[in-house]
Amino acid sequence: MYGTSIMPGVTRRGEATLMLVDSHTHLLRLEVSPEEAVRQAVEAGVGAVVNVGTDVEDSKRGAELAAVLPNVYSTAGIHPHNANIYSAADLEALAELSESPGIVALGEVGLDYYRGYSTPEAQKALFEDIISLANDTRLPLVIHSREAFPDTMASLGSARVPVVLHCFEGGERELQEAKERDYYVGLAGNVTYKNSGTADVILLMDPARLLVETDAPYLSPQPVRGERNAPKNVVYTARFIAGRIGIGEEELATVTTRNARNFFGLPLEV
Ligand SMILES: [Zn+2]
Repeated sequence: MYGTSIMPGVTRRGEATLMLVDSHTHLLRLEVSPEEAVRQAVEAGVGAVVNVGTDVEDSKRGAELAAVLPNVYSTAGIHPHNANIYSAADLEALAELSESPGIVALGEVGLDYYRGYSTPEAQKALFEDIISLANDTRLPLVIHSREAFPDTMASLGSARVPVVLHCFEGGERELQEAKERDYYVGLAGNVTYKNSGTADVILLMDPARLLVETDAPYLSPQPVRGERNAPKNVVYTARFIAGRIGIGEEELATVTTRNARNFFGLPLEV
């Protein structure tokens, strides 16, 4: 079923049409089954989801999901939280997975000095190995960076593939650096929170480098904050961003879906 996509413009409540992509989600950790989550997402106008792997096992299961579920794509990666238990065999497993047809990117990988579950040295070693794998396979990179922006950008200096800074939570300075490198930024539900500094720089973002995501089951956007997140909720984040930019929801959907298609190479008509 890989490669099957719904027609662009899912009818919502019989009036407007909308087709969003949830560019970063964890289908294997939701309250409902992946199948049900995708069904609900399609109903809400979310025509495709990119499931993100956080270790080898998770990435393998993600590849299987992408192989059987229409409108589902997946990535292969090892989250920096898991850097301490990472081995050479894991990198080989990711290399093998990268050839599977449903795998559209490597990640999430990067640096997380906030939680600090793994040492910075272990995180950097893993990160650099996966950047090399991305350069070899030409797959784009999905980056997780928390309280580690300068080091993340330093390591990414060797990347020769498209990069998305997932769950971007930087301000003007970080955004400027991302723009200089032509990186994509992924905005998750936390951008809708009152204290989000990133919301204040949405207008400075390059619309052609903007992706929307849920990072479900985490970071539920307003007005469903407090509930476990699901891919269907990317609609709220998209609505918030459209409001900040001052464009219609449909236009925002078209732009970000086109960006997701370009970044991941998805077979979507948009
Ligand atoms: Zn994630």
